Amino acid sequence: MNDTRTAYLNGEFMPLSQARISPMDRGFLFGDSVYEVIPAYDGRFFRLEAHIERLHRSLDEIRLDLGMADSDLRSIVENVKDRDGGGDIAIYIQVSRGAPTTRDLRAPRGRPTVFATSLSPKGVSDEIRDHGVPAATARDIRWGACHIKSTALLANVMAMQEAGEGAVEAIMIRDECVTEGGSSNVFVVRDDRVLTAPRDHRILAGITRDVVLEVLGELSIESSEEQIPESALHSADEIWITSSTREVWPVTALDGDAVGNGIPGPVWRAVDARYQDVKRAQ
Ligand code: PMP
Repeated sequence: MNDTRTAYLNGEFMPLSQARISPMDRGFLFGDSVYEVIPAYDGRFFRLEAHIERLHRSLDEIRLDLGMADSDLRSIVENVKDRDGGGDIAIYIQVSRGAPTTRDLRAPRGRPTVFATSLSPKGVSDEIRDHGVPAATARDIRWGACHIKSTALLANVMAMQEAGEGAVEAIMIRDECVTEGGSSNVFVVRDDRVLTAPRDHRILAGITRDVVLEVLGELSIESSEEQIPESALHSADEIWITSSTREVWPVTALDGDAVGNGIPGPVWRAVDARYQDVKRAQ
C-alpha cells in the first residue's frame, strides 16, 4: 500500500514513512506514554477541546510535562489534518516521556516525544447500519488506572485475542460486571433503560460516551451510569459500542448468540440518527 500520510514528530512535519523514533524511547521500552484520537468531519474537528482536556488529564496523571501551549497542540493536529486532506479523518497524537540514554524506570525530566499522524475513521457503514457487528466477552485483566489513555494496551490486545477473530470487539468483564470494550465504551439497553458503566478508574471516559449520554437526554430516553452485571449483558435488548473512530455501533451478536432480535434495535436507530446530526452540526 502506498502510504502517503503525514507525520508530525518533535517539531517537524514529514512523510509518515520517514518518521523515526529511538529504540530508547520510553514509549517503546515501558509504554510510558499517552495518546488521543480526535475525529474531524467535513474538515472540522469534533469535540476538539474535550480531547485536549482529556490529554491534559492523562499527562497530569502520569506527571509528564508536555511543555507546549494548547495553541501549539491545536496547530499540530490542524496541520496534520489539513496536510492529509481534511474531510472525514481522525488525528492520532501520542506523547511519550522521551528517549533518555539510560534505561531506568525513574522518570527523567527530558524532552517528551510528540508524534501525530492521521487515521481513517470507520464510522457507521451501510453494512453495519443494516446488520450490526459481532462481539465477544473477555476477561478484563487491566490495571487500576484505566481512566488514563495510556498506550500500554497489552491487556486490551489480549482481550481481543480472547474474544477471537469473529468478534470486532471484546466486551470486557471485571468482577462479573461489564467495564468497556477493548477500544470502546459499552452501552446496554434493557427494559427501556440505557445503561453504561460509571465513570471511574475502571474505564476510559470516552468522548463519544459523553456525546451519546447528551443525545439520550435530548431524546428523553432514560439512561443511567451504573454497574452492569454480566447477566444483564447476556439478556440485553440492545448492546452498543462507542468510540471516536467508530461512533455508535450496534452489537447484534454476543458470544455467538443473537442480541435481542439479532438486528440493530430501535433505540440505537434513534441515537445514531441524532448522533449523525450532532457530528455535522458543529
Ligand atoms: N475505552 C477504551 C479502552 C478506548 O480505547 C476508547 C477509544 N479510544 C474508548 C473507550 C472510547 O473513547 P472515545 O469515545 O473518546 O474515542
